[in-house]
Amino acid sequence: MTIPTPAPALIEKYGLSGPRYTSYPSALQFSENFSDESFLQDLANEQGHIAVYIHLPFCRSMCWFCGCTKIITRNQASADLYLDYLAKEMQMWAPHLQNKKVAYVHFGGGTPNFLTVEQIDRLNALIKCYLPLANEVEISVELSPDQLQEEQVNAFARMGAKRASIGIQDTNAEVQVAINRLQPQSQNVAAMNWLRKAGFSSINVDLIYGLPHQTASSFEMTLEQVLQLDPDRIALFNYAHVPWFKPTQKVFASDVFPSTMMKLKIFQASCARLQSAGYTYIGLDHFAKQDDELAKAWQQGTIKRDFQGYSVNPANITLGMGMSSVSQSRNAYRQNHKELKAYTAALDAQQLPVATGIVLTKDDQMRRQVINQVMCQMSVDFDQLGIDAGHCFTNEMDDVKGLIDDGIVVSYGNGFKVTALGRLFLRNVAMQFDAYRQQQADRCSATL
Ligand code: SF4
Repeated sequence: MTIPTPAPALIEKYGLSGPRYTSYPSALQFSENFSDESFLQDLANEQGHIAVYIHLPFCRSMCWFCGCTKIITRNQASADLYLDYLAKEMQMWAPHLQNKKVAYVHFGGGTPNFLTVEQIDRLNALIKCYLPLANEVEISVELSPDQLQEEQVNAFARMGAKRASIGIQDTNAEVQVAINRLQPQSQNVAAMNWLRKAGFSSINVDLIYGLPHQTASSFEMTLEQVLQLDPDRIALFNYAHVPWFKPTQKVFASDVFPSTMMKLKIFQASCARLQSAGYTYIGLDHFAKQDDELAKAWQQGTIKRDFQGYSVNPANITLGMGMSSVSQSRNAYRQNHKELKAYTAALDAQQLPVATGIVLTKDDQMRRQVINQVMCQMSVDFDQLGIDAGHCFTNEMDDVKGLIDDGIVVSYGNGFKVTALGRLFLRNVAMQFDAYRQQQADRCSATL
């Protein structure tokens, strides 16, 4: 698929801020005034396998661009204490997990390989002790090649991890200095070699476009170096510049960023290069080799959007553990405390460390279905969803007419399809069905 160059007028019109729709409603709508009962009831009623996300927040140094919830420290004992609290949280969930099976476990961060080999082995013992793991449990982990050691890779492999996602972002030295993430290609090569040797079968590389000092030619070089690593998947994220929310981003002068037009050029060229290298272009910003499960699920229309981006895990429930982790179910989202102190205090008081959340209304549920179809299938079929669009989405369908006029979607059956041009504006298409869009207008990153 070739992505056409949009006219400047379209960039002007749609260069808004909006969510990435890893959830709907977005986390901006989570509130302290919510009842956890809905999530707990969904968990109690769930018949299928569930997924568990475990947040490991520690990093040794700060990357200025980072939007994750993390704790910068070099004190290795912090992780021992954190594991004590993770154990407490797992113990508290145990009564809710009777008769359940956990088929997916994902470790995110922060930097999960902040943990020493001994701490990773302890984490392994904890999940085996407290979580009712399915026989074929799929374990995945986010790793930073910076300071990664082969013994840590082997420790995660001993745990049963077969999937890994490594953060590279950009291999250009000038960009790396600007973002405070010095990571020579030799570290990326070593990480890939160790992961393959340890039997990891699906390895993703995270890249970011829109970072300071990036140009079309610098990013072309980054992409070539990444292709030499031969990853199974590549996530090519649009940098989210939200300094009012992530103050460390204020370190960047406003004139160091590539223009919106340059960013689009970088994305278009990357998209073409990755497809020519045999990767399938998936959804908003993911690429996968044709024999990778994500590409197969994309062809079959079964990919899912969740807080980790796109995934193939079909679980209806993700149970988040650790500070700031988000849980999701059919009817609710809930998020743990983002501050370590509040997280540990809740557990010391024998309470689940939940801070905020939202229980979905019927309207939220309906909009979530539509937005999921936009983000995962590039089309919406109101008949398939059982939605009377003329009745439920009168104003939204007027907005869709505007999208049709602009060549972003085309009318298709009782619904619409996103065009090749429209792939650049996917978040904008989803936004048309977001009931909270006015409220969060200035609190999200730019869509382009
Ligand atoms: S980008 Fe990764 S390694 Fe860097 S600060 Fe954020 S979580 Fe830590």
